[in-house]
Amino acid sequence: MLFIAPPRIRHLVVLHVGIDDTDSMERMCTTYVATEIVSRFRGLDLIGYPRLVRLNPNIPWKTRGNGALCLRYGVGQGTPFHVGRIGGERVEAYPRSGPVEANEDLWETCEDVVMELADLEDPEAQPGLVVTRRKPSPGLYWRAVTDVVSWKEVEPLLSLVDFYLAPKGMRGLIGSLAAISWRPRDRTYEVLAYRMQERWGTLRVVREEDVMALDERFPTTFNNYDHDNRHMAVVPNSPCPVLLGIRGDVADDLHRALSTIKCEAVDRWILFKTNQGTDEHLVRRRVQDLRSNISAIVEGIVSARPRVLEGGHVVFPLDDGSTVDCVAYEPTKAFRKIVRELYPGDGVRAYGSVRDIPRSLNLEKLDVFELRQIVVKVANPRCLSCGRSMKSVGRAGGFRCRPCGAKAPPDAAEFRPLDRGITEGIFEPPVAARRHLSRPVKRMAFSRQGEGSGTLRTLLTRP
Ligand code: ATP
Repeated sequence: MLFIAPPRIRHLVVLHVGIDDTDSMERMCTTYVATEIVSRFRGLDLIGYPRLVRLNPNIPWKTRGNGALCLRYGVGQGTPFHVGRIGGERVEAYPRSGPVEANEDLWETCEDVVMELADLEDPEAQPGLVVTRRKPSPGLYWRAVTDVVSWKEVEPLLSLVDFYLAPKGMRGLIGSLAAISWRPRDRTYEVLAYRMQERWGTLRVVREEDVMALDERFPTTFNNYDHDNRHMAVVPNSPCPVLLGIRGDVADDLHRALSTIKCEAVDRWILFKTNQGTDEHLVRRRVQDLRSNISAIVEGIVSARPRVLEGGHVVFPLDDGSTVDCVAYEPTKAFRKIVRELYPGDGVRAYGSVRDIPRSLNLEKLDVFELRQIVVKVANPRCLSCGRSMKSVGRAGGFRCRPCGAKAPPDAAEFRPLDRGITEGIFEPPVAARRHLSRPVKRMAFSRQGEGSGTLRTLLTRP
């Protein structure tokens, strides 16, 4: 008799929980759903930080920031570390896990929490939940952060997962699986503090001076306070349960940073590992390859002077053999001043998302890597015979001295270089107008991956 051994499950050491699309404009936040799972499920250990994974910011059906969540559970090994506090209790995670079996309790807890907290009334939301020991390849994450993933691409993965839940349509499973498939390369952290439930929907109380001081007190944090617009970027605008979130490169700094902020009572806080501030949504492309719903970095030459449109948006054409309009929208405020200083011939790298109609690149950042020297005429030449000022005889005709009739070519005039008003370097919109995924210039200078030395030099020498 032929004996077929049951497949041995080796190296399946982590149970991944992926969650997405549980919130609506009016309520909830998928990160809160994740904290509730952490709070209720104690049957296994948390492995690593909970993960907040931002996906393609140009997906038309996102609610806000296209965030999906991943929690990892297993049998903890190594020294546990502090990742949060819920209900007065310390939450810890382990760096590694030993082998783990499928876990019915974990599944049931996740299902209960999602069915209880997800905004199932919202016509747009399609909540998704996946629990699996088999992790999809990171290729899915890269597709989901840079492009639109079709349901057909993801459907075959469902046969590999332990459990999934999609009570209102399958879309939420795309983000859930993509969050699980993220293998952090560049990464940042965010500590999220949540409000007491009775205060949800009311005005948030957070002391502005403390938020203003964060950049200086904790230099590894970023996107804290928008000094141009006097806006606390750490505080969300929506009626969701989040009180504030502080982002940074060093996980250990974030809880300390949170403790310096005077604010209303905090119900719970959790430290997430995230892909925020990494620019992973951007792909280098040529103008001819731009299409809707993607983000790109396009390198080329400015081909005409920027113009200011009604509403204050500033537009310039970028040419790399084909041409696309690059737009700095009004909310990018002072960033538009930089854009207005461009001249034809300047070499720039434009970072942004593609808008379909009219086809344009919505600027998130601008690397001015070559400023053309522009000279302006300041005076007509003096006559070499009599010393008098010569008169112009038309654009191409050069100059003529009326009294003595001497002639001079057009380039005999006196020129001086135009003061360009900008330097070469990388420029970004103020904090309030940045995308979750956009890598702040502050990180570009000091991140582990760094940039080309030329870019670093211009960043560090810019006044
Ligand atoms: P959050 O408010 O938590 O920041 P969001 O609410 O803006 O995020 P979701 O409500 O999660 O976004 O909606 C995004 C939906 O789009 C989800 O159903 C998700 O599965 C799906 N989705 C996300 N990225 C992609 C992608 N690249 N291709 C296809 N579908 C995607």
